[in-house]
Amino acid sequence: MAEDRLSKIVSLCRRRSFVFGGSEIYGGLSSIWDYGPLGARLKKRIKDIWWDTYVEKKEDILGLDSSIIMHEDVFKASGHLEGFTDSLVDCPKCKKRFRIDKLEKISENLYRCVECSSEIDSNKHKPRKFNLMLKTNVSATEDEPNYGYLRPETAQGIFTNFINVLNSTHKKLPFGIAQIGKAFRNEVTTGSFIFRMKEFEQMEIEYFVKPEEAARAYEYWVKERFDFYTSKLGIRKENLRLREHEKDELAHYAKSCTDIEYNFPFGWSELEGIANRGNFDLTEHGRVSKKDHSYFNEATKEKFIPYVIEPSAGVDRTFFAVISDAYHEEEVNGKTRVVLKLKPNLAANYAAIFPLLKNKPELVELAKKIFYDIKVKFPATYDDTGAIGKLYRRQDEIGTPLCITVDVESLTDNKVTIRDRDTMQQERISIEKILEYIEAKVK
Ligand code: ATP
Repeated sequence: MAEDRLSKIVSLCRRRSFVFGGSEIYGGLSSIWDYGPLGARLKKRIKDIWWDTYVEKKEDILGLDSSIIMHEDVFKASGHLEGFTDSLVDCPKCKKRFRIDKLEKISENLYRCVECSSEIDSNKHKPRKFNLMLKTNVSATEDEPNYGYLRPETAQGIFTNFINVLNSTHKKLPFGIAQIGKAFRNEVTTGSFIFRMKEFEQMEIEYFVKPEEAARAYEYWVKERFDFYTSKLGIRKENLRLREHEKDELAHYAKSCTDIEYNFPFGWSELEGIANRGNFDLTEHGRVSKKDHSYFNEATKEKFIPYVIEPSAGVDRTFFAVISDAYHEEEVNGKTRVVLKLKPNLAANYAAIFPLLKNKPELVELAKKIFYDIKVKFPATYDDTGAIGKLYRRQDEIGTPLCITVDVESLTDNKVTIRDRDTMQQERISIEKILEYIEAKVK
Protein backbone atom coordinates (compact mmCIF):
# COMPACT_ATOMS: atom_id res chain seq x y z
CA MET A 1 0.00 0.00 0.00
CA ALA A 2 2.73 2.44 1.08
CA GLU A 3 4.84 1.29 -1.85
CA ASP A 4 1.87 1.79 -4.09
CA ARG A 5 1.46 5.36 -2.86
CA LEU A 6 5.17 6.04 -3.31
CA SER A 7 5.18 4.71 -6.87
CA LYS A 8 2.09 6.78 -7.69
CA ILE A 9 3.77 9.94 -6.40
CA VAL A 10 6.98 9.17 -8.30
CA SER A 11 4.97 8.51 -11.43
CA LEU A 12 3.02 11.77 -11.09
CA CYS A 13 6.28 13.67 -10.57
CA ARG A 14 7.59 12.25 -13.84
CA ARG A 15 4.40 12.52 -15.86
CA ARG A 16 3.81 16.13 -14.92
CA SER A 17 7.42 17.36 -15.16
CA PHE A 18 8.20 17.74 -11.47
CA VAL A 19 11.17 15.36 -11.18
CA PHE A 20 13.22 13.40 -13.74
CA GLY A 21 16.15 11.03 -13.33
CA GLY A 22 19.56 12.75 -13.64
CA SER A 23 21.54 12.01 -16.87
CA GLU A 24 18.65 9.74 -17.78
CA ILE A 25 19.36 9.49 -21.53
CA TYR A 26 22.71 7.91 -20.62
CA GLY A 27 21.22 5.40 -18.22
CA GLY A 28 21.07 7.72 -15.22
CA LEU A 29 23.14 8.05 -12.07
CA SER A 30 21.93 6.58 -8.81
CA SER A 31 20.50 9.05 -6.27
CA ILE A 32 20.85 11.98 -8.68
CA TRP A 33 17.67 13.73 -9.78
CA ASP A 34 16.68 16.69 -11.95
CA TYR A 35 13.74 19.00 -11.40
CA GLY A 36 11.57 19.58 -14.46
CA PRO A 37 9.64 22.75 -15.38
CA LEU A 38 6.96 22.39 -12.70
CA GLY A 39 9.29 20.92 -10.09
CA ALA A 40 11.72 23.80 -10.49
CA ARG A 41 8.91 26.24 -9.78
CA LEU A 42 7.57 24.41 -6.74
CA LYS A 43 11.08 24.10 -5.36
CA LYS A 44 11.66 27.81 -5.89
CA ARG A 45 8.39 28.67 -4.11
CA ILE A 46 9.50 26.65 -1.07
CA LYS A 47 12.90 28.35 -0.98
CA ASP A 48 11.38 31.81 -1.50
CA ILE A 49 8.97 31.33 1.42
CA TRP A 50 11.81 30.21 3.70
CA TRP A 51 14.09 33.08 2.62
CA ASP A 52 11.31 35.64 2.93
CA THR A 53 10.32 34.38 6.40
CA TYR A 54 13.81 34.40 7.87
CA VAL A 55 16.02 36.76 5.86
CA GLU A 56 13.64 39.41 4.53
CA LYS A 57 11.23 39.59 7.46
CA LYS A 58 13.52 39.14 10.45
CA GLU A 59 15.96 41.88 11.37
CA ASP A 60 18.27 39.56 13.30
CA ILE A 61 19.04 37.18 10.41
CA LEU A 62 21.39 37.95 7.51
CA GLY A 63 21.56 36.09 4.21
CA LEU A 64 24.67 34.51 2.71
CA ASP A 65 25.59 32.76 -0.53
CA SER A 66 28.93 31.06 -0.03
CA SER A 67 30.76 28.82 -2.48
CA ILE A 68 30.25 25.10 -2.88
CA ILE A 69 33.91 24.14 -3.25
CA MET A 70 35.81 24.61 -0.04
CA HIS A 71 39.38 24.33 1.25
CA GLU A 72 40.47 21.00 2.71
CA ASP A 73 41.30 22.66 6.04
CA VAL A 74 37.65 23.63 6.49
CA PHE A 75 36.84 19.96 6.83
CA LYS A 76 39.86 19.23 9.01
CA ALA A 77 38.44 21.78 11.42
CA SER A 78 34.82 20.66 11.13
CA GLY A 79 35.70 17.00 11.65
CA HIS A 80 34.25 15.89 8.31
CA LEU A 81 37.57 14.59 6.91
CA GLU A 82 38.01 12.33 9.89
CA GLY A 83 34.50 11.49 10.92
CA PHE A 84 31.98 11.98 8.12
CA THR A 85 31.84 8.33 7.20
CA ASP A 86 29.35 5.54 6.74
CA SER A 87 30.09 1.91 7.52
CA LEU A 88 29.44 -0.01 4.33
CA VAL A 89 29.15 -3.72 3.82
CA ASP A 90 28.99 -5.77 0.60
CA CYS A 91 26.40 -8.51 0.18
CA PRO A 92 28.34 -11.69 -0.80
CA LYS A 93 25.46 -12.89 -2.98
CA CYS A 94 24.12 -9.93 -4.97
CA LYS A 95 27.32 -7.85 -4.55
CA LYS A 96 25.36 -4.72 -3.72
CA ARG A 97 26.79 -2.34 -1.13
CA PHE A 98 24.77 -1.11 1.85
CA ARG A 99 25.03 1.05 4.93
CA ILE A 100 25.18 -1.46 7.75
CA ASP A 101 23.03 0.71 10.03
CA LYS A 102 20.21 0.57 7.48
CA LEU A 103 20.08 -3.24 7.29
CA GLU A 104 17.77 -5.50 9.29
CA LYS A 105 19.77 -7.06 12.13
CA ILE A 106 19.05 -10.77 12.59
CA SER A 107 21.50 -11.44 15.43
CA GLU A 108 24.77 -10.05 16.81
CA ASN A 109 26.80 -10.12 13.56
CA LEU A 110 24.15 -11.18 11.10
CA TYR A 111 22.26 -8.83 8.80
CA ARG A 112 19.66 -9.31 6.07
CA CYS A 113 20.36 -7.98 2.56
CA VAL A 114 17.52 -5.66 1.47
CA GLU A 115 18.08 -6.52 -2.15
CA CYS A 116 18.25 -10.34 -2.23
CA SER A 117 17.36 -11.27 1.39
CA SER A 118 20.51 -13.33 1.94
CA GLU A 119 22.32 -13.19 5.23
CA ILE A 120 25.42 -11.02 5.58
CA ASP A 121 27.85 -12.01 8.30
CA SER A 122 29.71 -8.86 9.35
CA ASN A 123 32.53 -10.96 10.81
CA LYS A 124 33.28 -12.43 7.40
CA HIS A 125 32.35 -9.39 5.36
CA LYS A 126 33.78 -6.61 7.44
CA PRO A 127 32.12 -3.21 7.08
CA ARG A 128 34.44 -0.56 5.70
CA LYS A 129 34.48 3.13 6.50
CA PHE A 130 33.63 5.30 3.53
CA ASN A 131 33.95 9.08 3.58
CA LEU A 132 30.85 10.74 2.17
CA MET A 133 32.55 13.87 0.87
CA LEU A 134 33.11 14.45 -2.84
CA LYS A 135 36.62 15.57 -3.65
CA THR A 136 37.62 17.61 -6.67
CA ASN A 137 40.86 18.86 -8.17
CA VAL A 138 41.01 22.67 -8.11
CA SER A 139 44.55 22.99 -9.48
CA ALA A 140 45.19 23.75 -13.16
CA THR A 141 47.13 20.53 -13.71
CA GLU A 142 46.47 16.89 -13.09
CA ASP A 143 50.14 16.30 -12.15
CA GLU A 144 50.10 18.59 -9.18
CA PRO A 145 46.61 18.25 -7.84
CA ASN A 146 45.22 20.53 -5.20
CA TYR A 147 42.08 19.09 -3.74
CA GLY A 148 39.00 20.96 -2.67
CA TYR A 149 35.77 19.42 -1.44
CA LEU A 150 32.17 19.93 -2.40
CA ARG A 151 30.62 20.98 0.89
CA PRO A 152 28.54 18.26 2.57
CA GLU A 153 26.46 20.91 4.36
CA THR A 154 25.98 24.62 3.71
CA ALA A 155 26.72 25.32 7.38
CA GLN A 156 30.51 25.34 6.93
CA GLY A 157 30.28 28.30 4.53
CA ILE A 158 28.49 30.19 7.29
CA PHE A 159 31.09 29.37 9.95
CA THR A 160 34.01 30.27 7.68
CA ASN A 161 32.39 33.66 7.03
CA PHE A 162 31.52 34.36 10.65
CA ILE A 163 34.35 36.86 11.13
CA ASN A 164 33.69 38.54 7.77
CA VAL A 165 30.02 39.02 8.57
CA LEU A 166 30.68 40.18 12.11
CA ASN A 167 33.33 42.73 11.04
CA SER A 168 31.37 44.07 8.10
CA THR A 169 27.92 44.33 9.69
CA HIS A 170 28.73 44.93 13.38
CA LYS A 171 25.79 42.74 14.38
CA LYS A 172 25.22 42.18 18.07
CA LEU A 173 24.28 38.83 19.56
CA PRO A 174 21.90 37.16 19.16
CA PHE A 175 21.91 37.07 15.38
CA GLY A 176 21.71 34.48 12.66
CA ILE A 177 23.20 33.83 9.23
CA ALA A 178 21.02 31.97 6.76
CA GLN A 179 21.84 30.30 3.51
CA ILE A 180 20.19 28.17 0.86
CA GLY A 181 22.41 26.11 -1.39
CA LYS A 182 23.62 22.82 -2.73
CA ALA A 183 25.36 20.22 -0.63
CA PHE A 184 26.92 16.93 -1.72
CA ARG A 185 27.25 13.54 -0.06
CA ASN A 186 28.28 10.34 -1.74
CA GLU A 187 25.37 8.43 -0.22
CA VAL A 188 24.74 4.73 -0.78
CA THR A 189 21.03 4.20 -1.10
CA THR A 190 18.32 2.41 -2.96
CA GLY A 191 14.83 3.45 -3.88
CA SER A 192 14.26 6.46 -1.71
CA PHE A 193 13.47 8.85 -4.59
CA ILE A 194 14.54 12.40 -3.66
CA PHE A 195 14.71 11.60 0.06
CA ARG A 196 18.40 10.72 -0.09
CA MET A 197 20.41 12.24 -2.92
CA LYS A 198 24.07 12.70 -3.68
CA GLU A 199 23.46 16.29 -4.74
CA PHE A 200 20.78 18.10 -2.77
CA GLU A 201 19.88 21.48 -1.38
CA GLN A 202 19.73 22.73 2.16
CA MET A 203 18.18 25.73 3.89
CA GLU A 204 20.24 26.38 7.00
CA ILE A 205 20.39 29.00 9.70
CA GLU A 206 23.22 29.31 12.17
CA TYR A 207 21.81 31.36 15.01
CA PHE A 208 24.57 32.69 17.29
CA VAL A 209 23.81 33.32 20.94
CA LYS A 210 25.45 33.82 24.31
CA PRO A 211 26.14 30.38 25.83
CA GLU A 212 23.65 30.93 28.65
CA GLU A 213 20.91 31.70 26.12
CA ALA A 214 21.47 28.62 23.96
CA ALA A 215 18.96 26.32 25.66
CA ARG A 216 16.15 28.86 25.31
CA ALA A 217 17.04 29.66 21.68
CA TYR A 218 17.07 25.95 20.89
CA GLU A 219 13.53 25.52 22.27
CA TYR A 220 12.41 28.54 20.26
CA TRP A 221 13.80 27.19 16.98
CA VAL A 222 12.33 23.71 17.44
CA LYS A 223 8.87 25.23 17.82
CA GLU A 224 9.34 27.88 15.14
CA ARG A 225 10.49 25.37 12.54
CA PHE A 226 7.70 22.91 13.33
CA ASP A 227 5.11 25.68 12.93
CA PHE A 228 6.69 26.77 9.64
CA TYR A 229 5.73 23.48 7.98
CA THR A 230 2.09 23.73 8.98
CA SER A 231 1.47 27.47 8.67
CA LYS A 232 3.69 28.39 5.71
CA LEU A 233 3.65 25.19 3.68
CA GLY A 234 0.25 23.80 4.64
CA ILE A 235 1.58 20.38 5.71
CA ARG A 236 -0.90 18.55 7.93
CA LYS A 237 0.08 18.51 11.58
CA GLU A 238 -0.74 14.82 12.00
CA ASN A 239 1.97 14.00 9.46
CA LEU A 240 4.68 15.79 11.43
CA ARG A 241 6.32 14.91 14.72
CA LEU A 242 9.33 15.85 16.82
CA ARG A 243 11.95 13.31 17.82
CA GLU A 244 14.63 14.25 20.29
CA HIS A 245 17.97 12.47 19.85
CA GLU A 246 19.18 10.16 22.59
CA LYS A 247 22.55 11.16 24.04
CA ASP A 248 24.34 8.26 22.27
CA GLU A 249 22.87 9.27 18.92
CA LEU A 250 24.13 12.85 18.97
CA ALA A 251 26.67 14.01 16.38
CA HIS A 252 30.14 14.65 17.82
CA TYR A 253 29.57 18.42 17.94
CA ALA A 254 25.98 18.52 19.20
CA LYS A 255 24.82 19.25 22.72
CA SER A 256 21.23 18.42 21.84
CA CYS A 257 19.29 17.75 18.67
CA THR A 258 15.66 17.33 17.67
CA ASP A 259 14.50 16.02 14.32
CA ILE A 260 11.30 17.14 12.70
CA GLU A 261 10.02 13.98 11.07
CA TYR A 262 7.46 13.65 8.31
CA ASN A 263 5.30 10.63 7.65
CA PHE A 264 6.72 9.92 4.15
CA PRO A 265 5.06 7.22 1.99
CA PHE A 266 7.72 4.79 3.31
CA GLY A 267 7.33 5.84 6.96
CA TRP A 268 8.44 8.47 9.48
CA SER A 269 11.80 9.96 8.53
CA GLU A 270 13.86 13.09 9.11
CA LEU A 271 12.79 16.25 7.36
CA GLU A 272 14.93 18.65 9.35
CA GLY A 273 17.33 18.60 12.27
CA ILE A 274 17.61 21.36 14.85
CA ALA A 275 20.84 21.14 16.83
CA ASN A 276 22.52 23.01 19.61
CA ARG A 277 26.09 22.80 18.26
CA GLY A 278 27.59 24.59 21.23
CA ASN A 279 30.74 26.50 20.26
CA PHE A 280 32.35 23.51 18.55
CA ASP A 281 32.53 24.87 14.99
CA LEU A 282 33.77 28.39 15.75
CA THR A 283 36.29 27.04 18.25
CA GLU A 284 37.66 24.54 15.74
CA HIS A 285 37.83 27.04 12.87
CA GLY A 286 39.59 29.42 15.25
CA ARG A 287 42.09 26.71 16.18
CA VAL A 288 42.84 25.47 12.65
CA SER A 289 42.83 28.88 10.90
CA LYS A 290 44.61 30.57 13.83
CA LYS A 291 42.14 33.46 13.55
CA ASP A 292 40.29 34.64 16.59
CA HIS A 293 36.62 33.61 16.32
CA SER A 294 35.46 35.15 19.56
CA TYR A 295 32.85 37.82 20.04
CA PHE A 296 33.45 40.93 22.11
CA ASN A 297 30.60 42.22 24.19
CA GLU A 298 31.12 46.01 24.39
CA ALA A 299 28.77 46.45 27.32
CA THR A 300 30.32 43.87 29.64
CA LYS A 301 33.81 43.81 28.06
CA GLU A 302 33.54 40.02 27.90
CA LYS A 303 35.14 38.02 25.13
CA PHE A 304 33.76 34.60 24.32
CA ILE A 305 32.95 32.18 21.50
CA PRO A 306 29.20 32.21 20.84
CA TYR A 307 27.07 29.09 20.89
CA VAL A 308 25.09 28.27 17.81
CA ILE A 309 21.65 26.83 17.20
CA GLU A 310 21.25 25.26 13.79
CA PRO A 311 17.89 24.58 12.14
CA SER A 312 18.96 22.56 9.11
CA ALA A 313 16.29 21.71 6.55
CA GLY A 314 16.51 19.89 3.24
CA VAL A 315 14.83 21.56 0.27
CA ASP A 316 14.32 18.26 -1.54
CA ARG A 317 12.84 16.48 1.47
CA THR A 318 10.55 19.45 2.03
CA PHE A 319 9.50 19.25 -1.62
CA PHE A 320 8.84 15.53 -1.21
CA ALA A 321 6.82 16.11 1.99
CA VAL A 322 4.79 18.90 0.36
CA ILE A 323 3.92 16.75 -2.65
CA SER A 324 3.17 13.66 -0.53
CA ASP A 325 0.95 15.66 1.77
CA ALA A 326 -0.92 17.25 -1.10
CA TYR A 327 -1.43 14.02 -3.08
CA HIS A 328 -5.08 12.91 -2.99
CA GLU A 329 -7.14 10.40 -4.87
CA GLU A 330 -10.92 10.84 -4.91
CA GLU A 331 -13.73 8.89 -6.49
CA VAL A 332 -15.76 11.19 -8.73
CA ASN A 333 -18.53 9.74 -10.89
CA GLY A 334 -16.94 6.28 -10.74
CA LYS A 335 -13.54 7.58 -11.80
CA THR A 336 -10.42 8.31 -9.77
CA ARG A 337 -9.53 11.97 -9.62
CA VAL A 338 -5.90 12.64 -8.72
CA VAL A 339 -5.50 16.06 -7.19
CA LEU A 340 -2.57 17.85 -5.58
CA LYS A 341 -4.14 19.89 -2.81
CA LEU A 342 -1.17 22.21 -2.50
CA LYS A 343 -1.44 25.34 -0.42
CA PRO A 344 -2.61 27.66 -3.22
CA ASN A 345 0.40 29.99 -3.13
CA LEU A 346 2.77 27.03 -3.64
CA ALA A 347 1.19 25.99 -6.93
CA ALA A 348 3.26 26.56 -10.07
CA ASN A 349 0.27 28.38 -11.58
CA TYR A 350 -2.42 30.09 -9.56
CA ALA A 351 -4.89 29.91 -12.43
CA ALA A 352 -5.35 28.10 -15.75
CA ILE A 353 -7.40 29.71 -18.51
CA PHE A 354 -9.23 27.78 -21.23
CA PRO A 355 -11.54 28.68 -24.08
CA LEU A 356 -14.47 26.25 -24.10
CA LEU A 357 -14.22 25.89 -27.88
CA LYS A 358 -10.86 26.29 -29.50
CA ASN A 359 -12.23 26.63 -33.01
CA LYS A 360 -14.05 29.86 -32.16
CA PRO A 361 -11.50 32.66 -32.70
CA GLU A 362 -13.41 35.21 -30.56
CA LEU A 363 -13.33 32.84 -27.59
CA VAL A 364 -9.63 32.10 -28.03
CA GLU A 365 -8.90 35.80 -28.33
CA LEU A 366 -10.83 36.69 -25.17
CA ALA A 367 -9.33 33.77 -23.22
CA LYS A 368 -5.81 34.81 -24.27
CA LYS A 369 -6.47 38.41 -23.32
CA ILE A 370 -7.64 37.32 -19.86
CA PHE A 371 -4.59 35.06 -19.57
CA TYR A 372 -2.15 37.88 -20.41
CA ASP A 373 -3.88 40.24 -17.97
CA ILE A 374 -3.58 37.66 -15.18
CA LYS A 375 0.00 36.71 -16.07
CA VAL A 376 1.22 40.26 -15.36
CA LYS A 377 0.25 39.79 -11.74
CA PHE A 378 0.15 36.05 -10.99
CA PRO A 379 1.69 32.88 -12.41
CA ALA A 380 -0.85 31.46 -14.84
CA THR A 381 -1.13 29.15 -17.81
CA TYR A 382 -3.25 28.96 -20.96
CA ASP A 383 -4.37 25.66 -22.44
CA ASP A 384 -6.63 24.78 -25.34
CA THR A 385 -5.22 21.39 -26.23
CA GLY A 386 -8.08 19.16 -25.10
CA ALA A 387 -11.68 18.85 -24.03
CA ILE A 388 -12.56 20.68 -20.85
CA GLY A 389 -12.69 17.54 -18.67
CA LYS A 390 -9.17 16.61 -19.71
CA LEU A 391 -7.92 20.13 -19.09
CA TYR A 392 -9.38 20.09 -15.56
CA ARG A 393 -7.75 16.73 -14.83
CA ARG A 394 -4.39 18.01 -15.95
CA GLN A 395 -4.60 21.06 -13.69
CA ASP A 396 -5.88 19.02 -10.73
CA GLU A 397 -2.85 16.77 -10.99
CA ILE A 398 -0.44 19.69 -10.78
CA GLY A 399 -2.39 21.49 -8.08
CA THR A 400 -3.58 24.62 -9.91
CA PRO A 401 -6.08 26.14 -7.45
CA LEU A 402 -8.36 27.83 -10.02
CA CYS A 403 -9.49 27.06 -13.56
CA ILE A 404 -11.16 29.75 -15.63
CA THR A 405 -13.26 28.87 -18.66
CA VAL A 406 -14.32 31.34 -21.31
CA ASP A 407 -17.51 30.33 -23.15
CA VAL A 408 -19.79 31.82 -25.77
CA GLU A 409 -21.80 33.70 -23.17
CA SER A 410 -18.64 35.38 -21.90
CA LEU A 411 -18.63 37.39 -25.14
CA THR A 412 -21.87 39.08 -24.18
CA ASP A 413 -22.13 38.97 -20.38
CA ASN A 414 -18.40 39.59 -19.66
CA LYS A 415 -18.38 36.72 -17.20
CA VAL A 416 -16.36 33.51 -16.93
CA THR A 417 -16.75 30.22 -15.09
CA ILE A 418 -14.25 29.80 -12.29
CA ARG A 419 -13.73 26.34 -10.79
CA ASP A 420 -12.20 25.59 -7.43
CA ARG A 421 -9.66 22.72 -7.43
CA ASP A 422 -10.63 21.27 -4.04
CA THR A 423 -14.41 21.60 -4.01
CA MET A 424 -14.85 21.43 -7.81
CA GLN A 425 -17.57 24.07 -7.31
CA GLN A 426 -18.07 26.35 -10.27
CA GLU A 427 -19.04 29.95 -10.06
CA ARG A 428 -19.77 32.60 -12.63
CA ILE A 429 -17.87 35.81 -11.98
CA SER A 430 -17.34 38.98 -13.96
CA ILE A 431 -14.05 39.29 -15.84
CA GLU A 432 -13.07 42.42 -13.96
CA LYS A 433 -13.27 40.54 -10.64
CA ILE A 434 -10.83 37.77 -11.65
CA LEU A 435 -7.66 39.31 -10.20
CA GLU A 436 -9.34 40.04 -6.86
CA TYR A 437 -10.66 36.50 -6.78
CA ILE A 438 -7.24 34.97 -7.36
CA GLU A 439 -5.65 37.28 -4.83
CA ALA A 440 -8.12 36.20 -2.14
CA LYS A 441 -7.46 32.55 -2.95
CA VAL A 442 -3.67 32.63 -2.71
CA LYS A 443 -3.10 35.04 0.17
P1 ATP B 1 19.99 11.31 7.56
O1 ATP B 1 20.10 10.83 8.99
O2 ATP B 1 18.65 11.10 6.94
O3 ATP B 1 21.14 10.87 6.70
P2 ATP B 1 21.33 13.63 8.42
O4 ATP B 1 21.01 13.62 9.88
O5 ATP B 1 22.65 13.15 7.97
O6 ATP B 1 20.16 12.89 7.61
P3 ATP B 1 21.77 16.41 8.41
O7 ATP B 1 23.23 16.29 8.27
O8 ATP B 1 21.19 16.77 9.72
O9 ATP B 1 21.08 15.06 7.87
O10 ATP B 1 21.25 17.41 7.28
C1 ATP B 1 20.19 18.31 7.50
C2 ATP B 1 19.08 18.11 6.50
O11 ATP B 1 19.58 18.07 5.16
C3 ATP B 1 18.33 16.79 6.67
O12 ATP B 1 17.33 16.90 7.66
C4 ATP B 1 17.74 16.60 5.29
O13 ATP B 1 16.54 17.33 5.14
C5 ATP B 1 18.80 17.18 4.38
N1 ATP B 1 19.64 16.11 3.84
C6 ATP B 1 20.72 15.53 4.41
N2 ATP B 1 21.24 14.59 3.62
C7 ATP B 1 20.46 14.55 2.51
C8 ATP B 1 20.49 13.78 1.31
N3 ATP B 1 21.43 12.89 1.09
N4 ATP B 1 19.53 14.00 0.39
C9 ATP B 1 18.56 14.92 0.58
N5 ATP B 1 18.49 15.69 1.68
C10 ATP B 1 19.43 15.51 2.65
